[in-house]
Amino acid sequence: MPARIIDGKKIAKHYRNSITEEVKQLKQKGMVPGLAVILVGENSASQTYVRMKRKTCEEMGIHSVLIQYGDQVGQNELLDKIDQLNNDSSIHGILVQLPLPEGIQTEKVIERISPDKDVDGFHPINIGRMMIGEDAFLPCTPYGILKMLQYENIDPSGKHAVIIGRSNIVGKPAGQLLLRENATVTYCHSKTENLTAYTRNADILIAAAGRAKFIHGNDIKPGAVVIDVGMNRDEAGVLCGDIDFDSAKNTAGYITPVPGGVGPMTITMLMYNTVKAARKTIENGIQ
Ligand code: NAP
Repeated sequence: MPARIIDGKKIAKHYRNSITEEVKQLKQKGMVPGLAVILVGENSASQTYVRMKRKTCEEMGIHSVLIQYGDQVGQNELLDKIDQLNNDSSIHGILVQLPLPEGIQTEKVIERISPDKDVDGFHPINIGRMMIGEDAFLPCTPYGILKMLQYENIDPSGKHAVIIGRSNIVGKPAGQLLLRENATVTYCHSKTENLTAYTRNADILIAAAGRAKFIHGNDIKPGAVVIDVGMNRDEAGVLCGDIDFDSAKNTAGYITPVPGGVGPMTITMLMYNTVKAARKTIENGIQ
């Protein structure tokens, strides 16, 4: 039987409806959630992502501000702007679109964002809080994956989750969140030997390597939940994931498509985090 397709667009819509509802309620209390997006350089993928994020803000009634710099911007200028946004009460979330041009220390820039406005969940304080199970802004892609699993009533508890990729923004936090949900987690990466020995053993397989269609149907355990984070171009220049969807859908039990899988959930969780940041300022009485 072919796999059930996990429809990221449909699930994102479901969550976006309730977030939009909360935006309306906040507005009734005189609060408009605000997101500042900093974009540096001419990277066309980054420009597309930023456009999509701002469009979603607009659709959901979230105020968004774009701050754009050329490749040559100095690190200090960026840090000064972040200081200014940290002190701006109309801005609840700050996002620096990655990657930054060479010469700028990404960690310094991320660490300058107030952890209370770190809606990407990349600040070490939020990562630490996530690791020890405290309330935190969770990184949007792994958080979106978790929400998809919840929506599909897939309980990771006791399951073997195999994560391909160990980046700080996707692979590592995805594994941590699944561990929190009582999965048994294995991380694979570019130095992993005999990758398929792990992938064939995964009840939940998360592919976040950035390698076009490199996992095939026969690399997957029959009936597994397959989450494809990859955003690649195939030989024909067509957008595709890390999973060879056509062969995998005949082995997997559930599978996310690319596009229309994880991507819409990532932006949704960014909106969720921005609204959460706004709500917290009311709760903490620091409007
Ligand atoms: P990244 O920083 O480049 O990390 C890639 C990871 O994959 C690394 O840990 C690397 O191992 C591992 N890897 C690379 N080749 C491998 C191989 N052949 N076998 C096993 N592991 C391998 O990438 P990222 O930022 O995590 O993103 C991963 C993919 O997800 C990209 O395609 C990106 O575009 C996509 N993405 C999508 C969304 C979305 O919303 N849909 C969001 C973020 C990212 P090493 O650590 O050993 O180098």
